[in-house]
Amino acid sequence: MTKIGLEIHCQLTKLESKLFCSCKANYREFEPNHNICPVCMGLPGSLPRLNQKAVESATSIAMALSCETPEKIAFFRKNYFYPDLPKNFQITQLNVYGDMSVGGEGYVSVEDKKIKIRRIQLEEDPGRIIYEGASERTKITLVDYNRAGTPLVEIVTDPDFESPRQVRIFLNILSDLLENLGVAEPGLEGAMRADGNVSIEGGNKVEIKNIGSFHDLEKALHFEITRQQSLFERDIEIAQETRHWDDRRKITVSSRSKEEDQDYRYFLENDIPWVKIDQSTRDALKENMPESISSKKDRYVEKFDIAPQVAEIIASNRYYSKLFENSYSNSNAKDIANLITTDVIGFIDTKEKQQNSKITSQHLSDLIDAINSKTITRNSAKVALQEIMKTGKDTKIILNELDLGQVSDSSEIDTIISQIFEDEKQAVIDAKERPETVNFLVGKVMQKTNGKADPVKTLELIKLKLGQ
Ligand SMILES: [Zn+2]
Repeated sequence: MTKIGLEIHCQLTKLESKLFCSCKANYREFEPNHNICPVCMGLPGSLPRLNQKAVESATSIAMALSCETPEKIAFFRKNYFYPDLPKNFQITQLNVYGDMSVGGEGYVSVEDKKIKIRRIQLEEDPGRIIYEGASERTKITLVDYNRAGTPLVEIVTDPDFESPRQVRIFLNILSDLLENLGVAEPGLEGAMRADGNVSIEGGNKVEIKNIGSFHDLEKALHFEITRQQSLFERDIEIAQETRHWDDRRKITVSSRSKEEDQDYRYFLENDIPWVKIDQSTRDALKENMPESISSKKDRYVEKFDIAPQVAEIIASNRYYSKLFENSYSNSNAKDIANLITTDVIGFIDTKEKQQNSKITSQHLSDLIDAINSKTITRNSAKVALQEIMKTGKDTKIILNELDLGQVSDSSEIDTIISQIFEDEKQAVIDAKERPETVNFLVGKVMQKTNGKADPVKTLELIKLKLGQ
């Protein structure tokens, strides 16, 4: 049996400042090494000062993942030497002397399985190492410390996953949850990274590091499982080691033997006092937490009679749920939900498009009103949405400009039908013999009218002409 565990690193990108100094948490907008100070550079004599908001955000994450949250938390020094770590130690958390990190045990449900969260800890992100050219042959390595000290939450799971597919579902659930909490933007480059550890029955645990995207993680896990199985079948020992994912060659490569906790010489970070998170603070955090995705989904299903799959798609995405929540009136909620999941999603399927989209909740309400009053067809609404997305103009103006008004006039539609009957003689014969093929003729009318003909009326008139 395959066992996979994960360590997920998620930056708290919604915070103003770094974890222990007042440099910006948003390091992405700076020139290299322009978002640094004596604290995050580890200069002698500098002292860390803990970002209280980071503790609160991390505690909210722990609560959302049903983790135990201790009354007091402590920080530790994890000692190791690497050029991206200016202090030569990372300030992080450790639970070997009891629960001292922001979150203890919790779980996430993936399909019918409960994936156990072992712990959640708050720590600082190191800087970034940039290789000029391929990393194995480069002569020049650059270090950018802008990221050093950025607040990072590490979420560690038990090895409960049995397949890479389960991992992917879990990561999607987790990233939706973090986004819904309003503490992170997992879509930002480098904002969410994961290490995986994999073992097959009878073999040692292998850790895979250096994976930049969920897509690559899935590929790396697949590769690693196959590699281990092939070693096992040939009776070769699977070494306990750390491997990294070579994105270019699409394989995992051995990088070093795995360090154990004792190799890091952990000790208490005495420059930061123990932090008390009393019951009233935790109650307040819980109260201020946004509605969870699952409760949102249940509410949509119960209150508006929306199909569970549709409700889930909308509830799990912050952008879609905001559009939905601001646009529905009780009478058109179902129509709005369907418009979002059938059409809006088709055009606005990436974070970037969501950010640039000019569609507002008002547009969606107006479009549904126009469809329901038969001013436009469903098809025209789709055309209008594409234009609204780009220009953000008022719905009525767009409908006029693109001449999308529905053609409901019977004689006008009838003229077009006569023309189609002339052009498609075989299809007419087919439709007479087999009524289920009539949609072909309806489609032709739609094509001819750029989707503007009233579909119900069109079908009625065609059937009349066919003598059905
Ligand atoms: Zn700093």
